[in-house]
Amino acid sequence: MDFRFSAEDEAFRKTVRDFFTDEYPADLLAKIKNGQQVTKADYQRSERAYNDKGWVAVNWPQEYGGTGWTPTQKYIFDDELERAGALSVVPMGLLYVAPVIYTFGSEEQKKRWLPDILASRTFWGQGYSEPEAGSDLASLQCKAVRDGDDYIVTGTKIWTSLGHYADWLFCLVRTSNTGKKQEGISFLCMDAKTPGITVYPITTIDGTQYLNRIEFDDVRVPAENLIGEEGMGWTYSKYLLSNERTSYAHIAGKWADIARLKEIATTIQSGNRTLLDEPAFAQKLAKVEVDLTALEFMVLRTLSAVSAGETPGGASSALKILATENAQAITELFLEANGSNALPFFPDRNAADWHEGLDIPAYAAPTTAAYFFNRAQTIYGGATEVQKNIISKQVLGVS
Ligand SMILES: Cc1cc2nc3c(=O)[nH]c(=O)nc-3n(C[C@H](O)[C@H](O)[C@H](O)COP(=O)(O)OP(=O)(O)OC[C@H]3O[C@@H](n4cnc5c(N)ncnc54)[C@H](O)[C@@H]3O)c2cc1C
Repeated sequence: MDFRFSAEDEAFRKTVRDFFTDEYPADLLAKIKNGQQVTKADYQRSERAYNDKGWVAVNWPQEYGGTGWTPTQKYIFDDELERAGALSVVPMGLLYVAPVIYTFGSEEQKKRWLPDILASRTFWGQGYSEPEAGSDLASLQCKAVRDGDDYIVTGTKIWTSLGHYADWLFCLVRTSNTGKKQEGISFLCMDAKTPGITVYPITTIDGTQYLNRIEFDDVRVPAENLIGEEGMGWTYSKYLLSNERTSYAHIAGKWADIARLKEIATTIQSGNRTLLDEPAFAQKLAKVEVDLTALEFMVLRTLSAVSAGETPGGASSALKILATENAQAITELFLEANGSNALPFFPDRNAADWHEGLDIPAYAAPTTAAYFFNRAQTIYGGATEVQKNIISKQVLGVS
């Protein structure tokens, strides 16, 4: 197994790095670094910067505007993006629904939705989870009843990431209650402004509005918005879930966090030495670095396998768990390093000067919010316990 990058890949890396230095909006990088709340306009500006280079749809086939990059090039792009501290693309449109549209949608649907997703003219939200259907998603109850040329949709979706920004929603809806519960699920796209759709914000423990609950009250949706066949939504959604990025582990971002953590630890006095030299802290930091190194090699090994035409299988579940634990350990160390400076908690991070006037260093201000937000990684993208179930079945062969 060869972990080295080829000369072509290194040249590609330089091109991407130059883009982030010279062309990506510098004010956006500064805003992110400042810990400010990112808006819909920010996400769209970032995606348009990628699209101007033809780099926004990394996984799409080239006939629809995809990059044609190899798995290694995709990895390098994400690596450089995180090194620069730039925004990743919002996954709901470009990574989740678009592949379903170009794989299972009609020609009419492709023409109608793909160009707007590519140009970041529309923002999409993912309506899968419900109050009583999360890990056991096939139990979903939001129903769509056929009425002439329309469906009438009634029910509740919850935990919809950035649903308050959404122009369009793609939802799993129940069109039948007979047979296996997976067989009665269909994949329906809806204009988020359709009468009867109401978005309610959910403020999370980090003080932000990222999540939402969406109520559907007799919403009339044209049947032409159904993707593929009625009752095939479960199959399409499984295809969607397999379109995860190779860089879910966010390796470069984590190394950048560790470098910043070390910088902070050298400025903090602990007795007659700095925190960085304090044995208990140094030991925890070393463990995080060792774990991240192991994670990085696991990602590279997976990448090598994908490049050779293999599928990651249960390895992606192991990656998800290790990446989550490592991210959370890093935010815990930030909390420990910043000590009482991390205690003030500032929910409103909209203004550029949101942490000014406070008697703490600017770098300490986002610590607590980041710590809280990272708790959610255990749950989203497939809960840790569910990933362990997959590993036990697919990797260990436990039935
Ligand atoms: C930040 C964030 C963003 C999200 N964004 C979206 C979004 O955009 N769209 C969307 O549709 N959903 C979204 N979700 C929802 C997410 O997919 C669900 O939270 C997730 O599927 C878990 O479902 P649940 O919350 O109902 O928890 P439950 O499924 O009720 O799980 C509760 C606990 O039980 C455990 N558990 C469940 N089943 C098993 C089992 N079989 N064996 C062992 N343990 C089990 C879980 O691991 C968990 O610890 C988001 C969630 C978060 C936190």
